[in-house]
Amino acid sequence: MKTIVNVKVNKKAAVKLRKGYPLIEKDAVENSKVLKEEGMIIRILDEKKNYIGTGYYGVQNKGVGWVITREPEEYIDAAFFTKKIETALKQRQHLFDDPDTTAFRVFNGEGDGVGGLIIDYYAGFYVIHWYSLGIYSFREDLLAAMKEKVDYIGIYEKKRFDQKGKYIEDNDFVAGERGEFPIIVKENGVNFAVDLNDGAMTGIFLDQRDVRKAIRERYSKDAEMLNMFSYTGAFSVCSALGGAKKTTSVDVANRSRAKTIEQFEVNDLNAGEHEIVVDDVFQYFKYAARKERTFDLVVVDPPSFAKTKKRTFSAAKDYIKLLKETIDLTKNNGVIVASTNSSTVDLKRFKGFIKDACKEKGVAYSILEQYTLPDDFRTIEEFPEGNYLKVLFIEIKK
Ligand code: SAH
Repeated sequence: MKTIVNVKVNKKAAVKLRKGYPLIEKDAVENSKVLKEEGMIIRILDEKKNYIGTGYYGVQNKGVGWVITREPEEYIDAAFFTKKIETALKQRQHLFDDPDTTAFRVFNGEGDGVGGLIIDYYAGFYVIHWYSLGIYSFREDLLAAMKEKVDYIGIYEKKRFDQKGKYIEDNDFVAGERGEFPIIVKENGVNFAVDLNDGAMTGIFLDQRDVRKAIRERYSKDAEMLNMFSYTGAFSVCSALGGAKKTTSVDVANRSRAKTIEQFEVNDLNAGEHEIVVDDVFQYFKYAARKERTFDLVVVDPPSFAKTKKRTFSAAKDYIKLLKETIDLTKNNGVIVASTNSSTVDLKRFKGFIKDACKEKGVAYSILEQYTLPDDFRTIEEFPEGNYLKVLFIEIKK
């Protein structure tokens, strides 16, 4: 049995939570000493002890838990999760029915009613991401719900709750059959090799599906394409399939070379016709300038924060510099696909970065397209920070 405690929140937080905000912020709690073990059920009360909602105690960034129901009598048990999963699966039925797309998100945290819990689907396999020890305490209930509602080959998990809120290295196999990795998943007909038991990442970021499709269908024909922060080269593969003359993928991680070759090969593309550079992007900018190389299409998709031996990159601080360097390598009428998943940079600020970089470089520009998260990454209006992805297609006129 789970322990249930009453948690009193301050006035300001009470107003916010009543409007549908799902995150219980640390500063909101007035009697924090009742929060003893993560996973406790918490009943949120306002200053006058009126009921607001029920949630669980789980430490995640600036939060100490999530409201997961607003029904005072509802139990948080296997049946609760079964219902949530059932609703979430229904919302993704069109994706389950699409033979050309076999990898997508089936449960997106607070967007599907349970903050801290994410589930992705990869061709018969499921990966559960636990974002706190608190949500992890419901593991048995959630697995029971999955067993009831989902046909799976195998289930894997990612525990994302070490001291710094990062992935805990482990064998991630949970139930069913083990996959023989890499397995091949499809996205709009494109193949991707993924490994569900190789650290925090699987080989593909599912949130960029619509962007990859746009790049393949509308921006690649005969293009010289540059992919900065390329990881396994997913954008390069889509550009090559869309008719790019040549792609160049740049990533500082050693593993990126073999992984990128693999993504080309599973699509019957000759990786030898493409360039894969293992280097810091800022070194590559210097190299390309020396060689006077320019591109028709440049994708820039940096992590919100990264530390390499030589430098620290922060999207909030360094994105303008990154764009200025990118503009230098972009041909007249070329397109920059600028992406950020930084929660501290909202769309308005991101557009400001683009305006400033183009102004400082003395180039004109127009924004051709704009993307946020795809439908399967469900978000709620009451929690705008959950809609973290911003991608702009920018035409540069020199
Ligand atoms: N665009 C990729 C995802 C990028 S993930 C995709 O669509 O799949 C971020 C990547 O940036 C990681 O692979 C990391 O190794 C790389 N990275 C971080 N700092 C870097 C730097 N300074 N130069 C080059 N790559 C960097």
